[in-house]
Amino acid sequence: MKPAPFAYAKARSLDHAVELLGHNGDARILAGGQSLIATLNMRLSHPTLLVDINGIGGLDRIAVKNGQIEIGALVRHAQAERSTEIARHAPLIAKAVPHIGHPAIRNRGTIGGSIAFADPAAELPACLLALGGEVEIAGPRGRRSVKADDFFRGLFETALAPGEVLTAIRVPAATPGTRYGFAEFARRHGDYAMAGLAACAQANGEIRLAYFGVGATPVRARHAEAALARGDIIAAARALDQDLDPPDDVQASGAVKKHLAGVLLKRVARELAEARA
Ligand code: FAD
Repeated sequence: MKPAPFAYAKARSLDHAVELLGHNGDARILAGGQSLIATLNMRLSHPTLLVDINGIGGLDRIAVKNGQIEIGALVRHAQAERSTEIARHAPLIAKAVPHIGHPAIRNRGTIGGSIAFADPAAELPACLLALGGEVEIAGPRGRRSVKADDFFRGLFETALAPGEVLTAIRVPAATPGTRYGFAEFARRHGDYAMAGLAACAQANGEIRLAYFGVGATPVRARHAEAALARGDIIAAARALDQDLDPPDDVQASGAVKKHLAGVLLKRVARELAEARA
């Protein structure tokens, strides 16, 4: 299919992007286009204007400061995959990115687009949640930041208000005592996962588990986190009954996803334990 007609504008700056978004009722941001163009072609959305943010300087920056790593919205998945800063300071993201689609998709798709689109089966929203990160936002009322725990609101729904641009994500930089785990089940490498798990274990014993592909948003498994923090993997796997209620989807039934979530938990728990040894 072909998209419905739309106008196109290239934003010269962040302020210009916010201005363009504010003056056009149904404007949509175009970043890597890897999800948006498909939804336009399938006529799942019909914006009247696409605001292309690819020419805005500085949004593709990766910076480490004050114990955090900030990754600009326009950092492509491929750039993240090659980045020595991300490998060193955000190893969970480095583990996850090679699972996103295929090289052609990673060459164009952006970190900001992935977080803003908030596909419940996407890797990066779950990583952001597991890391306890934040989302940086610019909009008509200025700048604000939203914690990952508050950002993902529902199916493809986030805390972004109309007219706002996600400018960067920020996550705590890795410390020697922090360990990370990542695993997913996909039918083929590069497909969206049937179920996946991103995990972060702090030196103080705190553990965050964020599942993807098992709900309308990335999901924290809080009861399993508490059990795993006590070192009780069996109880953690059992606690998933309280934490997760995956719906059936085209990939698998909810029951299969729940089973996979348990298997992933054991794999990731082993990965975290090996990282400590
Ligand atoms: P776009 O497609 O340009 O935009 C997506 C949405 O986000 C739009 O609504 C847009 O308006 C909004 N948006 C984009 N940037 C911003 C911003 N800075 N601020 C506010 N709103 C913004 N993803 C995965 O995670 N895992 C996969 O396994 C996977 N497999 C894929 C397989 C295929 C065949 C394809 C085509 C895509 C796949 N993707 C997968 C999606 C890919 O990761 C996309 O790059 C990503 O979801 C969206 O990023 P984008 O930059 O392309 O955003």
